[in-house]
Amino acid sequence: TEACLKEIEGAGALNAFVHNTPELALEQAKAADARLAEGDAPAMCGLPIGIKDLFCTKGVPSQAASRILEGFVPEYESTVSQNLLDAGSVMLGKLNMDEFAMGSSNETSVYGNAVNPWRREGDTAELTPGGSSGGSASAVAADLCLAATGTDTGGSIRQPAAFTGITGIKPTYGRCSRWGVVAFASSLDQAGPMTKSVRDAAIMLEAMCGHDPKDSTSMDLAVPNFEAMLTGDIKGKKIGIPKEYRMDGMPAEIEKLWEDGTAMLKAAGAEIVDISLPHTKYALPGYYVIAPAEASSNLARYDGVRYGHRATLDAGDGITEMYEKTRAEGFGSEVQRRVMVGTYVLSAGFYDAYYNRARRVRALIKKDFDDVYATGVDAILTPATPSAAFGLGEMNDADPVKMYLNDVFTVTVNLAGLPGITVPTGTDSQGLPLGLQLIGRPWEEGDLLNTAYALE
Ligand code: GLN
Repeated sequence: TEACLKEIEGAGALNAFVHNTPELALEQAKAADARLAEGDAPAMCGLPIGIKDLFCTKGVPSQAASRILEGFVPEYESTVSQNLLDAGSVMLGKLNMDEFAMGSSNETSVYGNAVNPWRREGDTAELTPGGSSGGSASAVAADLCLAATGTDTGGSIRQPAAFTGITGIKPTYGRCSRWGVVAFASSLDQAGPMTKSVRDAAIMLEAMCGHDPKDSTSMDLAVPNFEAMLTGDIKGKKIGIPKEYRMDGMPAEIEKLWEDGTAMLKAAGAEIVDISLPHTKYALPGYYVIAPAEASSNLARYDGVRYGHRATLDAGDGITEMYEKTRAEGFGSEVQRRVMVGTYVLSAGFYDAYYNRARRVRALIKKDFDDVYATGVDAILTPATPSAAFGLGEMNDADPVKMYLNDVFTVTVNLAGLPGITVPTGTDSQGLPLGLQLIGRPWEEGDLLNTAYALE
C-alpha cells in the first residue's frame, strides 16, 4: 500500500486518480495485516486497488466524473466495493473516467482526461487510455495499484484494457450487483475487474460478484472458485470466429493479431470453427438508441434538489429555471447529447421508429449468439478494438460517430448480456498494446477465464 501511494504521488501527470484516500488506505492495510496475523486471509487481503469514480464509496466523494455530482459524498458503499473491502482489499482512491461512463477516451471527464502510460515508439505525444474506465486502465498499467474496478455498458472495461495492455472482464449481466453504482444504461451496465493478468481477474471477480437482494437484476447463483478453474486445458473446446467481425478497412495489424490468437488457441487443442452472427451490423446503431434512452431516464434525477451541483439563480427564477440552469451547467456536452437523443427516441412520435426497433434488433442480436452457442461453440474470438490507442484530442472533432465506432466489437456483448474478456496479446508496429476479446456463454465466466488464460 505504501509503495502504491508513493507511485500515485509521482504519477500526477497520468491524471488517473481523481480522489486519493491515503489515510483510509493505510488504516485498511493495517486491518489487513491484523487479519493475516490471525490467520484470516481472504482472497484480496491487503491488496491495494483503485475504484472507478462511478461506484458510490461511503464517506468518499463519488462524482461519476461529472460537475453535477459536485460535493456528493455517499452515505453508503456500493455492493461491489463493499464485497471487495470485505475480502480484505485496500482502497487507494477513486479513478478517473468519462462523465457518467459516456465515452471511449476519458475525455468527457470533468477532471480532464486520464493519460495512457504508453507512447508510440519515438514519439512523445500523449495517448488516450481509452474509456470510459480510462483512469482504471491507466492506473493498473502504470503500476499505481494492483487492480481496479471498472464498469462496462458498451465496452468500457474491455476497450481501455486493450489500449493499455491489461486484462479486463465484463461478467454476465446480473453477475455483479449494480447497487450503489451510478446508473448509465441499467439494462447494459455491469461492473468488472481490470487487472494485470487473467489469474488476478479470476480472483478479483470472485470477490466482487454474487447475489444481492438490493439489485433485482442480480442473479441468485453460486459463485464458483474461478481461480481453481484456470487449468490452461482447452483441448476440445470449440472456438467460433465470426465472419461479420471482419470489418471493411480493418487494419492489417488487427487482422494478424486475430489470426495469431486463433492459431494459438488451435495449438492449445481447441477446435476452430467459422460462425455467423448475422445481425452484428445493427449492434452499434441499436446500442446508441438504447443506451441514451435509458441514460435520459436515469439522469432525470439530477435536478439540483437532491444532491450535487445547483446553479445560482436570478431573482424571479422558478423551479423550471433551476432545473434548466443546473442541468445546463452540470452536464458536459456528450452527456447533454445523450439526454437529448434518449428523450427523442423515447418521445411518443418516435418511440416505435427508434426505441422499439432497437429493442427488436437487440433481441435478434441475442438470438444470433444463442444460435451459435446451441451448436456447441464454447467461446467466440474477436478483436477487442478496431485500432490501438489513439492520440488525445484526435477524435474530438465535430463527428461523435467516429468515437462511437470504437465500440463496434464490444457493444454486441452488452446487448446480449454475455460475459466478455479482453486479453493483451500483441503490439502494433509502433509498440502499442493490442488486445483480443473472448466472448463466453452466459454464467460461464470460469470457462471463459480459462480460455483467456490459454491465450495469455
Ligand atoms: N463508449 C461507449 C459509450 O460511450 C461505452 C461506454 C461504457 O461502456 N460505459 O457509451
